[in-house]
Amino acid sequence: SKEVHLVARPVGEPTPADFALVETTVADPGPGQVLVRNDWMSVDPYMRGRMNDVKSYVPPFRLDQAMEGGAVGTVVASESPEVPVGATVLHFQGWREYALVDGAHATVVDTEAAPAQAYLGVLGMVGLTAYAGLTAVAGLREGDVVFVSGAAGAVGSLAGQIAKRLGASKVIGSAGGPEKGRRLLEDFGYDAAIDYRNGDLEGQLAEAAPDGIDVYFDNVGGDHLRAAVQAMRVHGRAALCGAISVYNATEPVPGPDNLALLVGKRIRLQGFLVGDHGDLAGEYRERAARWLAEGGLYAEETVVDGIDHAVDAFLGMMRGANTGKMLVRLS
Ligand code: NDP
Repeated sequence: SKEVHLVARPVGEPTPADFALVETTVADPGPGQVLVRNDWMSVDPYMRGRMNDVKSYVPPFRLDQAMEGGAVGTVVASESPEVPVGATVLHFQGWREYALVDGAHATVVDTEAAPAQAYLGVLGMVGLTAYAGLTAVAGLREGDVVFVSGAAGAVGSLAGQIAKRLGASKVIGSAGGPEKGRRLLEDFGYDAAIDYRNGDLEGQLAEAAPDGIDVYFDNVGGDHLRAAVQAMRVHGRAALCGAISVYNATEPVPGPDNLALLVGKRIRLQGFLVGDHGDLAGEYRERAARWLAEGGLYAEETVVDGIDHAVDAFLGMMRGANTGKMLVRLS
């Protein structure tokens, strides 16, 4: 069985040399454990933070050990009465082909209701992030004009559609390149698309939202946050979900230089972590399942095959190789 180790802490943009593919032997499950053949694993932007040796809301990855992350797989041996052989489980030991998981940390998922990998995307942490950010954090109201950055990615491609479903009058998305712009308009329910690589972000946003925006869902930080503050109407609210434009920065990045506008416009900027919004998971899953069944929510995936290409999938996602959720199919 193969697994991916972090062998060096990246400085700036990670490179393939920071990782190693390592062959290991698979042990039998001990009492309470299950052996899982991972079928899918997730690569996510927050993993970049775990590659640094700094204190954060999740501890750093350890060098020369398998990295961790969301995965779904099939139980092939079980010493846990709750988790039978053959079950499909969601767990947190990705980046490897086979995982020994504590039965208590393996959640059996229903593959009749949705394909297994949906639990790493639209029906998992990703979908809940979009939903909680819009509702609990930004306090989305009917009629709001909403701006989403990173709009063609996993969270962003859902956030636009969910905002529309919850009554936004207009949703504007920003992503890199004309092809992603087309996908925003044709597949992800956006009313207007901004190609941030095309320059003049603020001008493009002003054109798309001549009367300003009420809600900003920030996946990117940096210039996007500045542009959003500039475009905000009075009582505007921003859910700060991520800041991928600075994850590879080697020096502290200055914040937006227009924060003085927050006062007069009474703007609220609020960071959040999906982990604090587990109380919304049931409500979200119910609504998402209904939207998916009605065809009113489209969950795009970009799939890379094989553990040998998992690092490429991660590096590619950080540079925008994905549309929708970036996934690695392991078997
Ligand atoms: P995505 O699927 O959106 O993948 C990352 C995307 O970021 C790429 O596709 C790329 O798209 C874009 N990107 C990369 N560099 C830049 C840049 N310099 N400027 C603008 N865009 C860039 O990832 P996720 O949907 O998984 O995550 C989106 C954000 O949400 C991240 O910031 C992540 O950290 C955050 N997050 C936060 C959570 C929380 O609890 N707060 C939970 C989950 C995610 P493009 O081609 O458009 O550049």
